[in-house]
Amino acid sequence: RGKAERVSEPCFYDAAMDEAVREQRNLTSDLRAAIGTDQFVLHYQVQARGDGDIAGYEALARWTHPARGTVSPGHFIPLAEQSGSIVPLGNWILRRACLEAAKWPEPFRVSVNVSPLQLADPMLVSTIRDALDESGLAPDRLIIELTESAIIRDREAALNALSAIRDMGAGLALDDFGVGYSSLDVLRSFPFDRIKLDASFVSQIEESRQAVAILHSVAELGKSLGMVVVAEGVESAEQLRIVLENGCGAIQGYLIGRPAPDLADPEAVRATVRRSRLRDRNTLVL
Ligand code: C2E
Ligand code: MG
Ligand code: MG
Ligand code: MG
Repeated sequence: RGKAERVSEPCFYDAAMDEAVREQRNLTSDLRAAIGTDQFVLHYQVQARGDGDIAGYEALARWTHPARGTVSPGHFIPLAEQSGSIVPLGNWILRRACLEAAKWPEPFRVSVNVSPLQLADPMLVSTIRDALDESGLAPDRLIIELTESAIIRDREAALNALSAIRDMGAGLALDDFGVGYSSLDVLRSFPFDRIKLDASFVSQIEESRQAVAILHSVAELGKSLGMVVVAEGVESAEQLRIVLENGCGAIQGYLIGRPAPDLADPEAVRATVRRSRLRDRNTLVL
């Protein structure tokens, strides 16, 4: 459109918007300054297998702003992406997660989220290698979680990076599967060894037969591709029973543990999984 046309449009720029822009700008510079300080910590959410044994933990970043208090990752991760801080922040998260996981009991693995812009960083692979070397964590105890949106930006660069990560011996999880693009082509073309079925999907399985049928098919597909299928956002005993009955190999969700600074109690996790799994649907109708 021509310039004259644009000039004649009403102007939505007002004081409130000015304030909002200033707020975002302040938060962005606070975020940059907070990287590497104790304002950022990692919380860990437990992941269990069908038998109730702990498989590992997902690292989830938490920011406590000195004036605003808790800022959720749903807010600060996009902010860090927009401002370019995600690379230094993500590097800090990777190093910290590896250092902390190296102190955990041997079999537990740590999953670390890597955002699209981090994957586009040509240094990502060497950053991961350095984090492993520095911490002494065995590569097979690290899992990198990525969403499909990270891959579709530059497929060739993504494939190279993902292959290098797998060659190192680390695991690769396709996060939030079942929403967004969810193309089967991604499962075929990229070296993922696990699929995380999105929580918004799991939340429907108690009411929707279709959701259960899809869950079942994804679990079967995953199995035949040699992948572990993890159900995210499991909140109820009934959901847990359904996802395990339909072939998911692992679960994560508030039912067995919320993200926390400390590791979950293995006995409590095992008891919750076994109790839910053994639940007989018919005996519940009292
Ligand atoms: P995600 O990787 O899919 O992580 C799972 C999110 O679901 C977490 O939210 C977790 O607290 C939440 N969750 C887990 N179980 C349940 C449940 O049973 N019910 C419900 N309603 N929610 C559950 P969180 O910690 O707020 O993180 C949100 C998103 O922010 C993450 O989604 C991830 O995409 C991103 N994120 C978090 N930490 C990091 C990080 O260190 N780096 C990057 N790049 N992204 C991160
Ligand atoms: Mg994740
Ligand atoms: Mg997810
Ligand atoms: Mg998510």
